[in-house]
Amino acid sequence: MTDFIPYGRQCVTETDVAAVAATLQSDYLTTGPAVTAFEAACNAAFGSTHAVALTNATAALHVVYLALGLGEGDTLWTVPNTFLATANAARLCNAEVDFVDISASTFNMCASALEEKLRTAKKLPKIVVPVHFAGQPCDMQKIWELAEKYGFYVVEDAAHAVGATYKGQPVGNCAHSHAAVFSFHPVKIITTAEGGIITTNDAALAEKCRKLRSHGMVKPPELTAEHGNWYYAMDTLGLNYRMTDMQAALGTSQMARLPENISRRREIAKTYYDALKTLPFGCQRGNPDGQSSWHLFVIQCADSAERRALYDFFHAHKVGVQVHYIPVHTQPYYQALGFKTGDFPVAEHYYSRCLSLPMYHSLTAEQQNRVVGLLEAFVAERYNQQKTA
Ligand SMILES: *Cc1c(COP(=O)(O)O)cnc(C)c1O
Repeated sequence: MTDFIPYGRQCVTETDVAAVAATLQSDYLTTGPAVTAFEAACNAAFGSTHAVALTNATAALHVVYLALGLGEGDTLWTVPNTFLATANAARLCNAEVDFVDISASTFNMCASALEEKLRTAKKLPKIVVPVHFAGQPCDMQKIWELAEKYGFYVVEDAAHAVGATYKGQPVGNCAHSHAAVFSFHPVKIITTAEGGIITTNDAALAEKCRKLRSHGMVKPPELTAEHGNWYYAMDTLGLNYRMTDMQAALGTSQMARLPENISRRREIAKTYYDALKTLPFGCQRGNPDGQSSWHLFVIQCADSAERRALYDFFHAHKVGVQVHYIPVHTQPYYQALGFKTGDFPVAEHYYSRCLSLPMYHSLTAEQQNRVVGLLEAFVAERYNQQKTA
């Protein structure tokens, strides 16, 4: 019996289990010292000065959009090649969403398409959200220059980019953005089960995010001095998006292994690239200014029929390859808002041919050989058939 190989999976060690168990028996189960420690670990890893931990990255996007003042009458731009949450969180703020097409080679936001859209826009966006797809950093320098020229906020959706670098610095240091958001869902690079974080270097923005995370409540010392220590005030409508101490303890424990996790992913990526040299599939082009964290390893098939056949072939052989992403604007909800298939042709063409191969820290060399062997077998079978047909 061969084991099922998923496209991504968490790696939880005995040390992680002990850290969570110790927290469960501590005085705080939520909003305690483990959360503060995890926020500090994130600042250290991502090079930011402020970090705000939340229940998940969707909540983090929602909160940071609200904190930047996104609301009715505003527009947020992102890419169609992302998970729904990047756009949905803006709709939860009652803002309009629009999209910028991707580059056919990097699968990330195309900076020149952004420039062109800005140049001809009737209404400028309040926030632009580039997504570091698969962990590959976007062209942040160019996007930041456009932000300065046109006056919009930049929030990096760095859900895939834990451990990625740009110009030699960690993604999340916000050198070219106002804030970045990371996800710690089990399929991502490190996990807190559910979890997300906002990083920023803007103290006022971080404060707003903290307040929105917990009902919009504040306890300023001058008010508690006047009324008593029980006193709190709420001047903004907030949410309960707080991370638990068990999640945070798992995150801090996982974060300690980030360097080995990323170097293993880089090894796996190199093995795939080497194997793909002799196979008829396309790959994501790397950013010469950055290093991917390799959340995903995506190949491009010749066409949608081949992708369907390859997906089914892998699943029949117990390899859980996956598709990232169905372009957001083609979802029924966004079609009802007026988007049409054909609006973002590069993302749609990319989607019709993409497939994510297994990529995770604990993927063994043997398992990866099985994946590569299946790719080779598929190609041999399909291209032989075509020759004889
Ligand atoms: C996973 C993901 C999210 C949402 O993260 P959650 O922690 O699951 O809420 C947002 N954006 C992208 C690009 C993602 O991959």
